Amino acid sequence: MKYDKFGPQKVVHVYNPKTNVKGFVVIDNTALGPGKGGIRMTPSVTPDEVFRLARTMTWKCALAELPFGGAKSGIVANDRELTLDRKEKIVREFSKELKNIVPEEYVAAPDMNMAGQEMKWFAEENGNMKACTGKPKEMGGIPHELGSTGLGVFHSGKIALEHMNRDMNDVTVAIEGFGNVGHFTAKFFEEAGANVVAASDSSGVIYNPEGLEYNKLKSTKDNQGAVTKHPSGKVLDNPKIFELDVDLLIPAAIPNVITSKNVDNVKADLIVEGANLPIPPGIEKKLHEKNVLVVPDFVANAGGVISSYVEYKGGDADEMFEMVPRKIEKNTQLVLERSERTGNYPRKEALEIAQERVLEKCDFCGED
Ligand code: NAD
Repeated sequence: MKYDKFGPQKVVHVYNPKTNVKGFVVIDNTALGPGKGGIRMTPSVTPDEVFRLARTMTWKCALAELPFGGAKSGIVANDRELTLDRKEKIVREFSKELKNIVPEEYVAAPDMNMAGQEMKWFAEENGNMKACTGKPKEMGGIPHELGSTGLGVFHSGKIALEHMNRDMNDVTVAIEGFGNVGHFTAKFFEEAGANVVAASDSSGVIYNPEGLEYNKLKSTKDNQGAVTKHPSGKVLDNPKIFELDVDLLIPAAIPNVITSKNVDNVKADLIVEGANLPIPPGIEKKLHEKNVLVVPDFVANAGGVISSYVEYKGGDADEMFEMVPRKIEKNTQLVLERSERTGNYPRKEALEIAQERVLEKCDFCGED
């Protein structure tokens, strides 16, 4: 774990030898508010991995101007081997062990192998509904199925296109991944007039330069399990999506998809990152030098945590649909304008803005 002037402020290890529940919470920085971040349950999760994710949350919340710091937690367990009863015991035990820091210093959320049911157990055990977000609707939760992250990715892309003086109606889009983030992003772009010509999932890429209709694509995925079963278009191998002749590329599935191996084959001149770290920072810099505009992940995909904030303060879906576009548009614009002024690539500027906001309120941060 790398310690620096921002944090991590607190690392809590949980181990109960009697129940054999193991986990940890990394609270990276709470200058702007309680640390916000999901609970990841995997057999291999480590404090280092959780620290890196907590640090990303510090910057994402600061950039989205939310009264949250950054945090994350991990429970070491193999979800596939657990009975529902055992999983409930683990989540409740974890919550009980964290009562002295939740929700004052840490507000939880779902991450890998965690969803509404688990958040219900976590909040019930804590006794405070502010203990976590991502709760079921009947507990005041704002469902993931409303597509807050995809909504934000779309609005970030819209601002970037305006920044480039491009007309949405002339834009072709390719979207890697057709899960929660990817399919909502496709829907919002199509509704705004763009032409979504390629989409992919783990089965491969479907590409039709004439356009893929969102409704057809969604029903193909829902009924046949793969976008490649779409009735019209060419099926390509997954990596080919990053080399298509399109205006806008949206990676929305897995990390490290544009690397030194394929960066020279990218034809799009705008990339909006829906997934986390789809491009290593050094490669983003190279794309910037080649005049490809890249809107970084923690600027574009903050819709989910903005929705969490609405839930945390007791708001509803209408408020989420108003707040996500407003915040994402404002901060995308800020990052792109600053990048244009300084000549630095957008991730560098976004990071500096987030750090300035944290340092301004941080009375415990160290010196350089
Ligand atoms: P998801 O599980 O709902 O969907 C993932 C999609 O990616 C699926 O369609 C899957 O088939 C596809 N996929 C898997 N491997 C692929 C490959 N090699 N090539 C192309 N497609 C592939 O996940 P999600 O919630 O949509 O998240 C996608 C990414 O966005 C992740 O990196 C996640 O960390 C990030 N993210 C998600 C949210 C959110 O609110 N869901 C918020 C911020 C960031």
